Amino acid sequence: MKASRMLIATLKEVPNDAVIPSHILLIRSGMIKKMSAGIYNYLPLGLRTLRKVENIIREEMDRAGAEEILCSCLQPKELWEASGRWYKYGSELMRIKDRHDRDFCLAPTAEEVFTDLTSVLVKSYKQLPVIPYQIQTKYRDEFRPRFGLMRSREFIMKDAYSFDVDTEGLDKSYGLMYKTYERIFDRFHLNYKIVLADSGAIGGNGSHQFMALSSAGESDIVYCDCGYAADAEKAESKAIEGVKEDLLELEEVNTPNFKTIEEVAGYLNIDKTKTIKAVAYRDMEHNKTVICFVRGDREVNDIKVINALNTSEELLRMATPEEIAEIGSVEGFMGPIGLNKDNIIVDNEVALMYNALVGANKADYHIKNANFARDFKCETKDIRLVKEGDLCPICGKPMKVERGIEVGQVFKLQTKYSEAMGCTFLDKNGATKPMVMGCYGIGVTRTMSAIIEQYHDEFGIKWPLNVAPYHVVIVPAKYTDEAQKDLADKMHDILNDSKAEVILDDRDASLGFKMKDFELIGIPYIIIVGRRANEGIVELKDRMTNEKIELPYMDAINKVLEAIKNI
Ligand code: ATP
Ligand code: MG
Repeated sequence: MKASRMLIATLKEVPNDAVIPSHILLIRSGMIKKMSAGIYNYLPLGLRTLRKVENIIREEMDRAGAEEILCSCLQPKELWEASGRWYKYGSELMRIKDRHDRDFCLAPTAEEVFTDLTSVLVKSYKQLPVIPYQIQTKYRDEFRPRFGLMRSREFIMKDAYSFDVDTEGLDKSYGLMYKTYERIFDRFHLNYKIVLADSGAIGGNGSHQFMALSSAGESDIVYCDCGYAADAEKAESKAIEGVKEDLLELEEVNTPNFKTIEEVAGYLNIDKTKTIKAVAYRDMEHNKTVICFVRGDREVNDIKVINALNTSEELLRMATPEEIAEIGSVEGFMGPIGLNKDNIIVDNEVALMYNALVGANKADYHIKNANFARDFKCETKDIRLVKEGDLCPICGKPMKVERGIEVGQVFKLQTKYSEAMGCTFLDKNGATKPMVMGCYGIGVTRTMSAIIEQYHDEFGIKWPLNVAPYHVVIVPAKYTDEAQKDLADKMHDILNDSKAEVILDDRDASLGFKMKDFELIGIPYIIIVGRRANEGIVELKDRMTNEKIELPYMDAINKVLEAIKNI
C-alpha cells in the first residue's frame, strides 16, 4: 500500500472533548472520526484494527464450538414486552416508530432476539447445548457518552448466549466461555483482572467482569491478595464490630439545624463510626419509600439497594421530604427506631454497633445510645459501599482498590428469559422444560480503546502486532533519491509477496514528518531507508521498545517476517 493513496488523517492538535489517551490517540491518528456525540465513523486504519480485534474474538469463539449468526439491530417492541424489559430498560433504550406507528428499538443487547430465535430452532434436548453468537452494532442512549469508543452511543459488541438443559449444563457453558474470554484477552496482550460482578439490568444470578487495568477506567475493582476480586458495586467486606460497651439508656438530644452526619457528629463531639447515617430512596416500581441505614463513616451502595428492593436503576430515586414524612420521619433527622420495618433497610454492620447516635424522626432531634437488638431489631442486609482498606470477606485482610475498564462480562441468566418468553424444549421423558441460559458480552470497540490505554507513549499508539492496522511501514528519507527509491520499492514488493501488511511512504515530505505520522498511528515496525541505501543498509525501529538498529535490508525483512509468523 502506498501512503500517497491512503486516507491518512493524522492531527497535531488534541481534540477539545478528549481527555483520556485512547480517545486523543484514536482521533489524532485518524483511526476514527466523530460524527455526533458518542457516534463515530471508522476510517481505513481504524477499520483494519477493528476487523482484527473482531477476528481474534471470532476465532476463539469458533474454537469453543460457538456458532456465529447475525441478527438485525432493529428489534420489535413485542419481544421486549414479552421479557418485561420494554419499560424497565429505561431511557438508554433507543426507541423508534415505523410509518405504521409500530414500535421498535435499536438493539442495546439481544437476549430477547436470541431467546426467541432459539425457542423456534430448538425443540428437543438432543439439540442442546448450543451457543449462538454475533458481532454486531449496539445502541445505547448513554446519559453521558464520553471517552471516544470507551462509552459511545453506537458500539460493536460480541454477544453470545448459551442454552442448556439444566444448571449443570449452564455451569459447563459458563466455564467454557470464561476460559474462552481468558484466551481472547490474553491474545490482546491486556493486563486484566476477572472480578465478581452484579448482574444489573440483564438479570439472573452469577456474573464476572473482565477488567483491563487502567487509570482511565470507569469502574473500581476491589481485590485482595488472597484472590478475592469484585466490582465495587458488588464487592463485600467483613462487617466490623464496634468497641464493646455496656448498653446505655436512650437519650434524646436537641440538634437544631444539624442535619448531616458531619455536622451532628462535630456538634456532639462523637466519632462518625458511632453514628448511623440515613439515606432515603423512592422505589417507583413498588411505590415505596425506604430509608437505608449504614455506619456514619460509610456510604450506601445504590446497586445493593436496587437488588434488595428488586427494582431497577431507572426506577429508583432519592425520596422527597414529603415522602419521608409519609412514613413517619423527618428529612435530616431520620433514624431506625419506631419506623415500620417495611420502610427500612439496615446494613448488617449497624447490628454490630454499640450506643450509636441516630435521628429521632422528629425535627431538630437525635437519639443517643441506640442499640440494634434492643431498639430496632429487624432483618439486616449488606448495603454498604466498600472502600480501600476494608477487610476481605474471605480472609479478613485489608483490600485494595484499582481502576479498570470493563471489556467483557459473563452472566448466568438461568431461566429468567426462557420462562418469560416460552423458550422450552422436550426433555428425555417428553416433559416440557425452560432452557437454562447464560449470556456473554465483549465490548469490541471498547477493547480497542483498552488496548491503547495500555499500549501508548508520548509519540502515539504502540499496537501489538496482531491488532496493528499494518505490520510494517517503509519510510524512505527522500523518495526522489534513486537508490532509496529502488531499495524501498524492492523491500515493499518482497514484504508484500510474503503476505506482510506493508505500507510504503512515498509521500513528498520530510523524514521527520513521515516518522511522526507512523509513530502516532503505531505501526509496530518502521524501516527507514536513508543515506546508506546504496550499500543495502537500512534502519529498523521497533515501535514497542522504540529501539532502532542498523542492518542489511534482508535482515530487516526477515526480522519482520519472523515476528509476523509468531503472531
Ligand atoms: P457499563 O457498565 O460500562 O455501562 P454494561 O455493564 O452496561 O457496561 P454490558 O451490558 O455488560 O455493559 O455489555 C457488554 C459489554 O459491552 C461491556 O462489557 C462493555 O465492554 C461493552 N459496552 C457496554 N456499553 C458500552 C458503551 N456505551 N460503549 C462501548 N462499549 C460498551
Ligand atoms: Mg457489564
